[in-house]
Amino acid sequence: MQITVLKETDPNESRVALVPESVKKLVAMNVTVALESGAGLPATINDSDYETAGASISSDRAALLAATDILLAVNRPADSDLGGLKSGAIVIAFLRPLDEPQKMQLLLERGLTAFAIELIPRSTRAQSMDGLSSMATIVGYKAVLIAAEQMPRMFPMLTTAAGTVPPAKVLVLGAGVAGLQAIATARRLGAIVEGFDVRAAAGEAVRSLGAKFLEIDMGGMQAEDAGGYAREVTEEVMDRSRALIARQAIQTDCIITSAQVPGKRAPILVTEEAVAGMKRGSVVIDLAGSTGGNCTLTRPGEVVEVNGVRIIAPLNLAATVPLHASQLYSRNLTAFLSILIKEGQANLDFSDDIIGPACAVHQGQAVEPRLKAALAVR
Ligand code: NAD
Repeated sequence: MQITVLKETDPNESRVALVPESVKKLVAMNVTVALESGAGLPATINDSDYETAGASISSDRAALLAATDILLAVNRPADSDLGGLKSGAIVIAFLRPLDEPQKMQLLLERGLTAFAIELIPRSTRAQSMDGLSSMATIVGYKAVLIAAEQMPRMFPMLTTAAGTVPPAKVLVLGAGVAGLQAIATARRLGAIVEGFDVRAAAGEAVRSLGAKFLEIDMGGMQAEDAGGYAREVTEEVMDRSRALIARQAIQTDCIITSAQVPGKRAPILVTEEAVAGMKRGSVVIDLAGSTGGNCTLTRPGEVVEVNGVRIIAPLNLAATVPLHASQLYSRNLTAFLSILIKEGQANLDFSDDIIGPACAVHQGQAVEPRLKAALAVR
């Protein structure tokens, strides 16, 4: 059975789905691993590193695809690549099945089986396969570095012969994986940090990192669903949140926003008035740009400046740390493959509580209920 990794086609993508340490583990599972020549270069990994780990390297993309049983990728492969796979082949990647269901069409037409990293349950058993958390960790870390680089002041308090420099004040909105990593990184750099989230459970995590948790009256509403994700909250709670954030913004040097509700537009937490209240030189790093942004002024992928306050909404930050992003993602994929592969063959046991839910499409049929519904509505 051949597992294949190609060069990613998006010119802004620098991650690769497998790193050499994972190739070794997969080869030990009695499978063949083949990479397109140069696939690891943007992530600083040479072909020879893969060969040493036991992979074969080829420049013939079409031949690689034709021989593939499992195609591993970071992003959903281009239609031209999906067209080159044999019917029944398996694709595993960040496929965005719920955000862009129509783009799953070719997987169906080609009779493929597809597992979406986004659908892997956030359960204890699946923790080592949680690619969303791996990438969010990197995003939260990098957001703080961008803020530190953009701000006209330093993060730590410094006592020098020329007097004392006060620490930066950072406010983090949304304390999921990315938000908590942003809090931890800003704290390590010496900032005074506050965190906000509508899930009460996030409070303990925020406080455990040495930050203050901002609380609002939720009007008795439980904002966490059974899966641990946030629900959409009432307009009343949103108004209270925005008012609190606008008050805090006045004395904040940096706001990092990461609030998301699965399947919905990102909630607006930072209003134009809140930005107007911020000091010149302050920054807002909006990590929710791909789902519309948490700030009214956000333009996804761009930098907007209003009265000396910069609103920065970077997209695909994980790709800006390609080596570690690839390493973590590759380990997530390898952990998933370790339950998918038995005796060198794919063993699709859909009764498994990870394999079943993670499958979006099987042999050309949409099997994930939300994807099925989205495609039926069309
Ligand atoms: P996410 O990216 O879906 O959302 C980020 C954060 O935004 C969440 O904490 C959410 O509560 C918050 N948010 C949503 N609406 C908001 C609003 N109006 N105001 C303020 N904050 C708002 O979250 P994620 O990082 O993917 O994590 C989702 C959940 O899964 C969390 O509870 C996390 O702890 C949990 N999780 C569990 C595991 C595991 O057990 N294996 C792994 C990772 C994450």
